Amino acid sequence: MRYEKQRAVKSFGEKTQQALSASTIAIVGCGALGSLQSMLLGRMGVGALRIADGDQVTLGNLHRQLLFSEEDVIEQRFKVDAAGRELARCNSQVAVTTMAKFITPENIQEFIRGAAVVLDATDDIQTRYLINDSCLQAGIPWIYTGVAGTGGLIMTVLPGEGACLRCLYPEPPEHENSANCLTCGILPTTVAMAVPLQITQALKILIGEAEAGALIQFDTKEPQLRKLKVHALSGCLCSMKSRPEGR
Ligand SMILES: [Zn+2]
Repeated sequence: MRYEKQRAVKSFGEKTQQALSASTIAIVGCGALGSLQSMLLGRMGVGALRIADGDQVTLGNLHRQLLFSEEDVIEQRFKVDAAGRELARCNSQVAVTTMAKFITPENIQEFIRGAAVVLDATDDIQTRYLINDSCLQAGIPWIYTGVAGTGGLIMTVLPGEGACLRCLYPEPPEHENSANCLTCGILPTTVAMAVPLQITQALKILIGEAEAGALIQFDTKEPQLRKLKVHALSGCLCSMKSRPEGR
């Protein structure tokens, strides 16, 4: 009964519902992107969620980080703790595991192990390179999502099957600089556009219909949505990995 309406969508159907409920999805970061990703996936019936973030909730988070409340600010809760409470209220059937730490080279492999997909919910290019390289090594698909101002980019990375983040950004781009993001700001409406596109790509990964290197670019102010393809750079880390077994 809970998922009746989404199962009725032909392109989603029973197939995606079953794949979703059998999957673990790991989310790196629990800010604006991570809040909405986990809220939607939790409500849609993902089997298990793993969320990592070392930050506590602050007042400046509340305009765009939809899982949190003023009470979380007053109680100085870690974002993952506040998220765990709220997600349990949305759907008690989802197994949520949280880690109140930032992702590092030391803990990432354990964090992503066994995940069907890893979702980028960070705002930091170095962590994104770490996700990229670790997922390539582990053979786990991941989805990059960068948002700033009124626009964003979403890229699907399938290890062994096409381009990776280092093919898109061989060097850290200026617009990915965290200081720059602070200057240009972010609107909750931009996040609310990016996450459904990212989750739709994740669902396609779960049912084997994802396209390696697919890049979606959007802007909400002058409405624009484009689908592009990133090609693998020769000599890039992604082209040195053999196709992982089972994919
Ligand atoms: Zn690459």
